[in-house]
Amino acid sequence: MINVSQAREIILKHIPPVKETQFLELNLCLGRVSAVDIKSRENIPPFDNSAMDGFAIKAFNSTGASGGNPKVFAVIADLAAGYTIAKTLKDNQAVRIMTGAPIPKGVDSVVMVEDTASNEGRNEFVRIFREVNKGENVRYAGEDVKKGEIVIKKGDILKSGYIGMLASLGISKVKVFRQPKVAILATGDELVEIKEKLTPGKIHNSNTYSLGAQVQSAGALAVVLGIARDKKEELRRKIRKGLSFDMLLVSGGISVGDYDFVKDVLKELGTTIKFWRVAMKPGKPLAFGMMERVPVFGLPGNPVSSMITFEQFVRPAILKMAGRREIFRFHLPAIAKDDFKKKKKLRYFLRVVLENQNGALYASLTGPQGSGILKSMVLANGIMELAEGLENLRAGDKVQVTYLD
Ligand code: AMP
Ligand code: MG
Repeated sequence: MINVSQAREIILKHIPPVKETQFLELNLCLGRVSAVDIKSRENIPPFDNSAMDGFAIKAFNSTGASGGNPKVFAVIADLAAGYTIAKTLKDNQAVRIMTGAPIPKGVDSVVMVEDTASNEGRNEFVRIFREVNKGENVRYAGEDVKKGEIVIKKGDILKSGYIGMLASLGISKVKVFRQPKVAILATGDELVEIKEKLTPGKIHNSNTYSLGAQVQSAGALAVVLGIARDKKEELRRKIRKGLSFDMLLVSGGISVGDYDFVKDVLKELGTTIKFWRVAMKPGKPLAFGMMERVPVFGLPGNPVSSMITFEQFVRPAILKMAGRREIFRFHLPAIAKDDFKKKKKLRYFLRVVLENQNGALYASLTGPQGSGILKSMVLANGIMELAEGLENLRAGDKVQVTYLD
């Protein structure tokens, strides 16, 4: 049986990134993946401007100024943000200037209102109570972004900050990769749709919904194919349909039960199974294969196994397919709050609540960790990964976690 790292490597090696792109209006780009490097065509800010409301002066004219010995300047103009003045200032002249207004010619610094006193009106003058350094309260052209600088790299996800940056560059449309379409098929004679009443022996199909939500959270489009009964003919029909999308997730029917036909049917339809079973808990019966260019995941049916295997394998696969540069979550160091006994050969993915206490991150189990305890996924804001080789976790041990929110 292969381990988690090997499984991930095999999967990622086979994932084809999408090639097609779309040109989207900026306000539709949040969460999408840039298909190009984007260079700034101008400086931001485009001109030197004031960082404060105050008076623009030559710094050296303020030499020696103090509360008891103010320097006096003649105020020759008022300058609001959005306007310019043509005049070049002479020594001991000032312009009353607002935040964002361009620095006039002849001056090099801004003294803030709080360090001055003035007589607003005709023949206005201003007294300055302290020495000002050259460049003080000036925001220079290009200090945020230089013309020609790459502000977004191909494969970056367009977060709010990027959207604002693109707007400030005057870029109204962005070339993004198309979102992969991920088909989801549930299997099982025991499943009924969520609008139907339960009868003896039946349960609601929940995996389609949790997986659909996970697909959307990963930035892809979920295509729900409903439920296939544990009959080869029906599985064949629905799996064949699923293989017409970018990726197919089949939930259940992949274990060693008498009615677990998914693997057989996939093979019959021409899928090459790359591996089946991974040394992990939950999620051991995971299968992965390729039907030509379409990756197919056989996810274990237990609701937690399905979500955990998605998180560990399908999510990075979707991100790679979507063109993302970063496809893994950060691992953070934390301290375990509970004892836990595990099987040495398997890597465990425990559902935990992460809490900050006195600057350290603590991880407590959500409660029972069975693969059918869906509440563990509801309560968890993190996953604690316990490596192969470990047998007994003790409260106080250092562990690795990923933060899910
Ligand atoms: P299987 O992998 O098909 O052997 O299913 C393992 C367990 O997961 C069984 O208890 C199933 O009833 C349950 N299960 C399978 N598919 C789903 C589903 N779509 N929603 C909720 N539970 C499921
Ligand atoms: Mg089943």
